[in-house]
Amino acid sequence: MCGIIGYIGKDKASKILLNGLKRLEYRGYDSCGIGVVDNDKLIIKKNVGKVEEVAEREGFLDVDGCVGVGHTRWGTHGFITKENSHPHTDCKEEIAVVHNGIISNYKELKEELIKKGHKFKSETDTEVVPHLIEEELKKFEEINEENYIKAVKNAIKKLKGTYALVIINKNFPNLLIGARNESPLILGIKDDSYFLGSDITAFLDYTNTAIPLEDGDIVVIKKKDNGYDVVIENNGTPVKREVMEINWDISSAEKMGYPHFMLKEIMEQPEVLKVSAKISAEEIKELAKCIKDYDRIYFVAMGTSLHAAMVAEYLFAKLGKLVIACDASEFLNKGVVDKKTLVIGITQSGETYDTLKALRFAKSKGAKTGAIVNVLGSTATRETDITVMIGAGIEIAVCATKTYTSQLMILYRLFIEYGKLLGRDMSRYEKEIDKIPNYIKEVLDKKETIKKIANNLKVNNYIFISKGINLASAMEGALKFKEITYLHAEGMSGGMLKHGTISLIDENMDTVAIVPPRNSSVFSSILSNIEEVRARGGKVIAITPVEIEGAENILVPEVIEEISPIVYAPAFQLLAYYKAVELGRDVDKPRGLAKSVTVE
Ligand code: GLU
Repeated sequence: MCGIIGYIGKDKASKILLNGLKRLEYRGYDSCGIGVVDNDKLIIKKNVGKVEEVAEREGFLDVDGCVGVGHTRWGTHGFITKENSHPHTDCKEEIAVVHNGIISNYKELKEELIKKGHKFKSETDTEVVPHLIEEELKKFEEINEENYIKAVKNAIKKLKGTYALVIINKNFPNLLIGARNESPLILGIKDDSYFLGSDITAFLDYTNTAIPLEDGDIVVIKKKDNGYDVVIENNGTPVKREVMEINWDISSAEKMGYPHFMLKEIMEQPEVLKVSAKISAEEIKELAKCIKDYDRIYFVAMGTSLHAAMVAEYLFAKLGKLVIACDASEFLNKGVVDKKTLVIGITQSGETYDTLKALRFAKSKGAKTGAIVNVLGSTATRETDITVMIGAGIEIAVCATKTYTSQLMILYRLFIEYGKLLGRDMSRYEKEIDKIPNYIKEVLDKKETIKKIANNLKVNNYIFISKGINLASAMEGALKFKEITYLHAEGMSGGMLKHGTISLIDENMDTVAIVPPRNSSVFSSILSNIEEVRARGGKVIAITPVEIEGAENILVPEVIEEISPIVYAPAFQLLAYYKAVELGRDVDKPRGLAKSVTVE
């Protein structure tokens, strides 16, 4: 969840670490810190707050030295305090460690270490790591580079749970060590420097050559007079990992004049969708063939990606194929998996803990697996049989927008390919998906109207309703809204409303109705739901292709029902955005959230 970075090279580490932390801040952001070896001293600067503030207050850039580690925290163990911020150190304050993940056996390890005299300064699980290394190092008579590396490896062997770790030691300023198990860690390579990061944005300003590390990997980067030695080992055996050129452009990690990344990412959807309309053609065909050949199909996902999966359920049902959209965190409890099952994970980051866990479970039962992913080289892309990239580019705002519509675009293409395999005429859909970028532009052009409607929302409670394939839109609309406005919102089918929730409707509970196109069989039914709400004194905001009397209307293009979820999405994204801005929320970094959820 947090972001980690490590650097070894010839330049001022604190500057590179700070830049990387700013890039990574979207992953988690309750506190941050750096640790740098500066003239044989280990300098730690850390505190609670946003990267820029803490860096300024603590004077990150006052630190010289060419090797260091950095961290933005989204704490799992221990409150948000300076002491719990990373980096963490050993008793002698010689070793500094940053960590993403959860050390599940930290209690036992901590107890043992305390018995041996170690003094802990924080409540985190992470702090056991530097103490464990210190303890392992005591077992060697001679303290040299070789033995230190052995001590680190021995300490890592004792850890259980999930971790990406980056480690430095003031006595060995020529070494940067990284390790990963179920938390992402990528090695960045430049001629005269090396980086370790939770994702490539951490070092994309400097290089786009990278090696994604795999579970069980330990990398030791050693600076020598005439270059570097880099050794990656897995379970004690040296391994070669594939070097990748990542073609993401760092300018997409800049706001480009927009006040927030979220708005920029909403507005760039027409262009982004032109890419997702073309990318991964072969892989989509391969996945479509598997959907045809396998008996039982699951899409496993979390959050926004699960709503994309819900759209897939309705699409494939149109072609008579049952696919199940499943909350990945529940998949181990209810998934029925065998060799004839295909399990497709949808995950923006490719690192979503619950989705990876579901995919691993599926694999262990002999199922075929696929992944629909945005981040190249991420764990999901490496661990599944078929990877489909969505091509949305870097998404910085925590709240997913363009990656949702790009996922939908890929699912439409999958649906079309599957239909073709059945011998159906899918040309109608093919023509329509070509028009999606223009339809979306039409919705984006309504942004001033949407802003006015958003600013006119006065209550603290909202229900989003729809029917049919747009049930996913109601769920996603409510998620966007609550995520960044911090106002209560629930998404449900218009049918479900009557089974309890309608009792809440009054002047303090507004309803956002996502009205399906007129060609939909559920069009008139949602109109009845709107009437039911109005009859109880509830205000209605309608995202609709036709004017609804008595509602505040956000008019969207009239399209075929199947593609309406992608066309309607920018309308509810903008509604949430403008309301959050009006309330003064931290739109790009909503409280308590992180971009990729890499912990359970
Ligand atoms: N478990 C560590 C902590 O609570 C790291 C959490 C994270 O991955 O952000 O500090």
